Amino acid sequence: MKSPNFQPRPAGTKIDMLVIHYTGMQSAGAALERLCDPAAEVSAHYLIDEAGEVFALVDEENRAWHAGVSSWRGSGGVNSRSIGIELVNPGHEFGYRPFPAAQMTALADLAQGIVARWQIPARNVVGHSDVAPRRKQDPGELFDWYWLAQRGIGLWPRPGQPEGEATLLLAEYGYDTADPEAALVAFQRHFRPLSCDGVADAETLALLNGLVTLL
Ligand SMILES: [Zn+2]
Repeated sequence: MKSPNFQPRPAGTKIDMLVIHYTGMQSAGAALERLCDPAAEVSAHYLIDEAGEVFALVDEENRAWHAGVSSWRGSGGVNSRSIGIELVNPGHEFGYRPFPAAQMTALADLAQGIVARWQIPARNVVGHSDVAPRRKQDPGELFDWYWLAQRGIGLWPRPGQPEGEATLLLAEYGYDTADPEAALVAFQRHFRPLSCDGVADAETLALLNGLVTLL
């Protein structure tokens, strides 16, 4: 199964990001159909179902259409420089639920290969909500970024000092802070998932400082 929804990457583009999504649809079949429908004009390089089966829909060399209007570390055009992986999950709209172990294991295997193949920096392994905090919630607070980081994919902070200005720290890490609260909620979904309330409390600040010291 292949998606027709792709184009060549702009000449000279270096692939240096990995973006993780959930499908946010009621079934895997419906998501596959949409990602392969020319009229939908969306796609991802891979889809992983809840049993851990991996569908390769767009060749990594090509530009898939998964991130939409987005920004990371001051640069838009995330689709041009990224690999996109969709995880089957109904999402917040249709009954958000945990990502099964088989799905996560398949993701870790796939992502380890991608990160090694393209030399993707750990700080550029992000969720859709990290690069589009005002529009997107996926993969959401049930996605286990800590587990993934333990397998060498993405960064995980040790708490630092609970000080500083949250918005500045968020921008330093890479978030678009045009809407500071949305950026903070996106950060919390990723790094402090138990409470994504958009409040720069001491724990959130400590994690932010811990993160930027890794850069
Ligand atoms: Zn998404």
